[in-house]
Amino acid sequence: MAKLYYDSDADLNALKGKTLAVLGYGSQGRAQAQNLHDSGVNVVVGARKGGKSWKQATADGLKVASVEEACKQAQIIMVLIPDDQQVEVYTRDILPNLTKGKALYFSHGFNVHYYQVVPPDDVDVIMIAPKSPGDLVRRMYRDGKGVPGLLAVYRDATGKAKQTALAIARGIGCTKAGVIETTFKEETETDLFGEQCDLCGGVTSMIKTSFNMMVEYGYQPEVAYFEALNELKLIVDLIFERGITGLWRNVSDIAQYGGLTRGPELWDDHVKETMHDIMRRIQNGEFAREWVLENTANRAVFKTLTRQDEESLLEQVGAELRAMMPWTQEGAKK
Ligand code: NDP
Ligand code: MG
Repeated sequence: MAKLYYDSDADLNALKGKTLAVLGYGSQGRAQAQNLHDSGVNVVVGARKGGKSWKQATADGLKVASVEEACKQAQIIMVLIPDDQQVEVYTRDILPNLTKGKALYFSHGFNVHYYQVVPPDDVDVIMIAPKSPGDLVRRMYRDGKGVPGLLAVYRDATGKAKQTALAIARGIGCTKAGVIETTFKEETETDLFGEQCDLCGGVTSMIKTSFNMMVEYGYQPEVAYFEALNELKLIVDLIFERGITGLWRNVSDIAQYGGLTRGPELWDDHVKETMHDIMRRIQNGEFAREWVLENTANRAVFKTLTRQDEESLLEQVGAELRAMMPWTQEGAKK
């Protein structure tokens, strides 16, 4: 079983007398900075002058400085700007101020694991990855709870890297719910595999394929939309609340029988082979290289495929149908 840490394993005193620079004030930056501040930690937000975040952090009552200045002041530098922006900011503002004994902190391991950011040997490199979006990180903290998180130490130069990471996890509220120890490698690779095969890639392709096939067979697109997409939420909600056996208890016997027998038929050896190949390209860095190069090519593939989705029949039908559903955001607008 995984190793878990709670409040009793984490001492906020490890951050005493230290300044923490939170770079970026978006989803994670805002939540983590506010929670740490409310936990009594000395936080300075590093933001772009005149930007939205600068104003927001000031309005929230936090100290704000330029990214460079925040990095100068801080012993712990928390990199919470979007992953594809981190390398540029690291090279320009962070590295010149990353002196011996400081700590570099991330909430996702991609750039370190795939050598986009190569920190000097004499600094700690740590990660706390809250397992939820920032607004929930903040809301749970305010409710006196917390969201679970992952902890990893990539480099322990001071001998205190883990203590520092645990203290930050406590300041954010994660040790209230429980923090699981992992590595930058495991966090990064499982994150990519999950989003490619399951969460973002798998689910959307399943919906699209299934919808298009029903339409191809002459069924009405509106009916196909409900079957392929709309009902998915009800199913996922059940699995989220009650697990897979809970789902089986809540659908009809015919749905359960069809699911139990046809699901594995669909997810056959061919699909598994493809998944192995996707995993291989995550583990050998090919996917990472592809994404980094894609970003230098003005995201040609990313933008084209996104446009194709936007223009699809599924999306047109979906927009019309959601407008009829007052409980969806689009429906509420009507
Ligand atoms: P966001 O997209 O919400 O970050 C936006 C913030 O970054 C804004 O404050 C923006 O400032 C600032 N920013 C963007 N580019 C730059 C730049 N070049 N220089 C300075 N500031 C910049 O990021 P997330 O919170 O989503 O992600 C942050 C990290 O957390 C990532 O590593 C991500 O993988 C990780 N993570 C995210 C989760 C999530 O739920 N979103 C969950 C777990 C981990 P401005 O207002 O000036 O534009
Ligand atoms: Mg993920």
